[in-house]
Amino acid sequence: MIIGLDFDNTLICYDELFHRLAMEAGVACPASGASKRAIRDLARRSPGADATWQRLQGLAYGPRIQEAHLFPGLRDFFERCVQEHADLVVVSHKTEYASDDATRTPLRTAALDWMDRQGLFHFAAGVLKRGSIHFCASREYKVARIRELGCTWFVDDLEETFLEPNYPREVRGIFFAPEGPRGIPHRPEILWAESWEKVAGHVFAD
Ligand SMILES: [Mg+2]
Repeated sequence: MIIGLDFDNTLICYDELFHRLAMEAGVACPASGASKRAIRDLARRSPGADATWQRLQGLAYGPRIQEAHLFPGLRDFFERCVQEHADLVVVSHKTEYASDDATRTPLRTAALDWMDRQGLFHFAAGVLKRGSIHFCASREYKVARIRELGCTWFVDDLEETFLEPNYPREVRGIFFAPEGPRGIPHRPEILWAESWEKVAGHVFAD
């Protein structure tokens, strides 16, 4: 079994970091909602609007990424994968650089460093290798890579990934939605999970 995983907002949780960055930028207060979505909405209502949101994203995905944390439950999920001999691959749509980042931090290297510092290659040793991390320049390439790698499952916080025209039908999709599924209408063939415990429930059901 090969389980494919998205990276941003699926493995790595930016919620607290976005809240901190938004407070530093003066667009949020301690009482503001701390989810990425809440911060995006606040930033877009601020005087700089989209430019403010671009700047916050540039910081979160680049020079400040080390302050983001691993989603709760992932460590247990990875240990279960080790027990079940399931291989893990990460397929992420990530550009080389953020559109607004004065430090020009290479985003893919920053993401790999973050995985390393979180100990992912250590506690998921054997099932997640450095060579199993794939970065793609567009969502279309990402979906093509998911197909090429022969994933059995794919877990992603963006339901749009599963709705791409070339998304391989044989790869079971799990929409990772910690705040519950919302936005675009949910397709019945796509499973959803609000936690990594629930993801494990789907993947290791039999
Ligand atoms: Mg994502």
